[in-house]
Amino acid sequence: MEDKCIFCQIAAKQIPTNAIYEDDHVIAFLDIRPSNPGHSLVVPKKHYETLLDMPEEEAVHLMKAVKHVAEGIVTAMNADGFNLLQNNKEAGYQLIPHSHFHVVPRFKNDGLQLGNIRQGNYKDEKEMKDVAAKIRELVKPVKDKEKESRESRERSEQSEHAEKDEKKEKKPRSRRLKKEDEFLIRREVELA
Ligand code: ZN
Repeated sequence: MEDKCIFCQIAAKQIPTNAIYEDDHVIAFLDIRPSNPGHSLVVPKKHYETLLDMPEEEAVHLMKAVKHVAEGIVTAMNADGFNLLQNNKEAGYQLIPHSHFHVVPRFKNDGLQLGNIRQGNYKDEKEMKDVAAKIRELVKPVKDKEKESRESRERSEQSEHAEKDEKKEKKPRSRRLKKEDEFLIRREVELA
């Protein structure tokens, strides 16, 4: 806990809020200066400055809480839609340096303008492709736990059969590789 951090103080119940959800890791409460009634903040109880400082598991838990909170807000406020805002660092308009999500319920014609989103252009196709390639290199794949355990199960089954029947072992492996290749190619196309 950071002594001077207002969200740490809220998590420690040193500052009262109108809480709308709480569990071991997360607290959600009404923003005192709402963009619309019901506008809430969803905050990890531990102090992390930005989303990137959070361990992946905690970020996943936070996102689950955001979804549940958003469902509650939309239903309670009879909203027509909602926005999630998650700002990081001063350049990203983060006012309180403790990671958090805003959940803002939206109503048709509510006149709310959330920032002025500029929509520009890349210089040319090459610049866009270069930017995509540079980022793609650095994005770590999301680990799929179910898939991993299924594959390690398959691998151990295969090695059991390997000595008995070489053909059976080779076939599924090459099939699987092909599928992965197809997936990567599809992904490249989608990303391009
Ligand atoms: Zn804090």
